Amino acid sequence: MASQVRSLDELPVSALKGAGAHTLKRLEKLSISTVGDLLFHLPLRYEDRTRVTPIGQLKPGDHALVEGRVELAEILPKGRRSLIIRIGDGTGFLDLRFFHYTAKQREQLARGKRLSCYGEVRTGYAGLEMTHPDYKLIDDMDADVSEQALTPVYPLTEGIHQKAIRRLAAQALSMADESRLPDLLPEPLIPAGYRLPLRDALRLLHQPPAGCNETSPKLTAARSRLAFEELLSHHLSLGRFRTQMQAHRAPVLAINRQAAERFVRSLPFALTGAQQRVIAEIEADLCSDRPMMRLVQGDVGSGKTVVAAYAALAALSSNYQVGIMAPTELLAEQHFRNFRQWLEPFGVQIAFLSGRLKGEARKTELEAISSGAAGIVVGTHALFQEQVVFHRLGLIIIDEQHRFGVHQRLALREKGLQDGLYPHQLIMTATPIPRTLAMLGYADLDLSVIDERPPGRTPVKTAVIPTSRRADIIARITDWVSKGRQVYWVCTLIEESEVLQCEAAEKTAVMLAEALPNVRVALIHGRLKPAEKEAVMSAFKERHFDLLVATTVIEVGVDVPNASLMIIENAERLGLAQLHQLRGRVGRGPGEAHCVLLYQPPLSETARQRLGILRDSDDGFVIAEKDLELRGPGELLGTRQTGQIQFRIADLTRDGPLLDAVAQSAAILLKDYPDRAERLIRRWVGHSVQYAGA
Ligand code: ADP
Ligand code: MG
Repeated sequence: MASQVRSLDELPVSALKGAGAHTLKRLEKLSISTVGDLLFHLPLRYEDRTRVTPIGQLKPGDHALVEGRVELAEILPKGRRSLIIRIGDGTGFLDLRFFHYTAKQREQLARGKRLSCYGEVRTGYAGLEMTHPDYKLIDDMDADVSEQALTPVYPLTEGIHQKAIRRLAAQALSMADESRLPDLLPEPLIPAGYRLPLRDALRLLHQPPAGCNETSPKLTAARSRLAFEELLSHHLSLGRFRTQMQAHRAPVLAINRQAAERFVRSLPFALTGAQQRVIAEIEADLCSDRPMMRLVQGDVGSGKTVVAAYAALAALSSNYQVGIMAPTELLAEQHFRNFRQWLEPFGVQIAFLSGRLKGEARKTELEAISSGAAGIVVGTHALFQEQVVFHRLGLIIIDEQHRFGVHQRLALREKGLQDGLYPHQLIMTATPIPRTLAMLGYADLDLSVIDERPPGRTPVKTAVIPTSRRADIIARITDWVSKGRQVYWVCTLIEESEVLQCEAAEKTAVMLAEALPNVRVALIHGRLKPAEKEAVMSAFKERHFDLLVATTVIEVGVDVPNASLMIIENAERLGLAQLHQLRGRVGRGPGEAHCVLLYQPPLSETARQRLGILRDSDDGFVIAEKDLELRGPGELLGTRQTGQIQFRIADLTRDGPLLDAVAQSAAILLKDYPDRAERLIRRWVGHSVQYAGA
């Protein structure tokens, strides 16, 4: 019986010659398990061994291929013991230095032998030399030692050599024919300009012809061709995930009309048009039996919390529990206060959970949650600890989603699974996600945007000022305070250490209290107990203090409309999104609002540009777009922390412009070639992707 040809997408690398147990383990570290994976493991750069350079023309710093005859071989005991092989080609001499060598090597590299070698040229003791060059002995006197193609240099992991991976990649490439590595993308679906067969693109990138370099248009096109296929596969995979999610059932949550009206009337303000629109979108989702997966995006201060409270009321009306998760203790506490104020009049009990809650208090809360006595549970990521058992969780609200990974979000959802019903999910973020990125990173979510701010907000005037002018700024605080306004002073440090941040804040508070005897100074930082933090915050809100010295714990959620001047130290060290969040604490009431970004000179060109973006714009979306241009998307999506999507070839900064075409081609592919979609997902996404496993 003829054995069926196995696609390289499925063929394990162990099928290659020279891939032993040791090598397989190392390859696994590089996420290479199939021959296909190996082919998508592209070189980082290339070495040019396509030309032989006469030794006489070598300069220090060159990477070059040379050939010559061994003139001298000796062991130098001086300094570090090494084997020196001097070769000559008639134009000059070059020393090859080996600190490690075997007896066999010593024997091979004898006088009169001819060899070629490639390496970096440096100035040695007795002229130019190469240390541990790649070398080959040449037996055939007339052999051409130069190579046809550039030599690939692959990303490596410890314990595996370039040579080994080159051999394996070359072998894989020689197997890649039409039947074993079929083109899955019909040509018309590939953007014009990149239309070359997959195998040709791979061959170009693994073995570029002489005369090319990393940036040659041919190679760039080949890379785009592959990136396109990869992005398309992820797009398809996210789409499939979404479809799977929609096949799940969720409880139907209908809000009680009277309760809804009473709630809206009880608010001290009228909802903005944008808030009303988003509430309507959420209501429509909640009364369907498919789990809602909705992302509410709204700039800092746009009023997301009240929208969440409205959604919570819908779940409560239908006798379901609501879990609200916030990324920081302070924000969780603030939500706890807000929700109590807004929803306790409806007779609901609200529980609070955080990592710091211990002993009896914690036990009481856990019982209230599992018995169902608590209708709402507000907390930090402590909400998905094992001991937390929900009674009837119908709605999960996650605030400032960018702080959580996709996995945490999904874990909480699994916790709520009961009688085959999944809870609805509402995710809120102030970090605007550019549309193209949203298509990939958040493709499993529907999007609602609160694109209007509550009336009466004043734009914050922002100044970028060097720390050398700190004294002027401190002097300004007195004026400000004498007008009855309050001030935030934010201490930041590059060190991730919370302890150091708190110490810096303590010192600053002491310094400011001394410098400003008529100003009442309070201090808040992450090491205070929750009750202490809450006491400081409410004392500040009630104007018992004029100046609040804080660490970045106040980044999210803090809401004191009378505080209208913020000074941020070491602003150049923070991300723009974070600075924008911080700045969002001021400008929440009537009257002028100011933000001073203090920096430590000298400022790099990029840092200057970044702070300039913030000075010139108050619009979170504009800031995010510009930040993306400067920094690349990884940070924005939080992929660093969450490992959300790891691409092999695509790079969203470089390949972002392909995403529109990706979406179009994906739609056609699903309609006309559904079987190809599955194979593409297997080829590129495989089993490695977390969101698909949820
Ligand atoms: P964010 O979207 O940043 O989470 P919040 O929900 O914390 O914003 O709201 C910021 C402030 O605006 C809060 O004091 C809130 O009570 C208030 N607020 C929310 N909606 C409105 C509105 N429609 N009119 C006036 N103030 C509002
Ligand atoms: Mg908020």
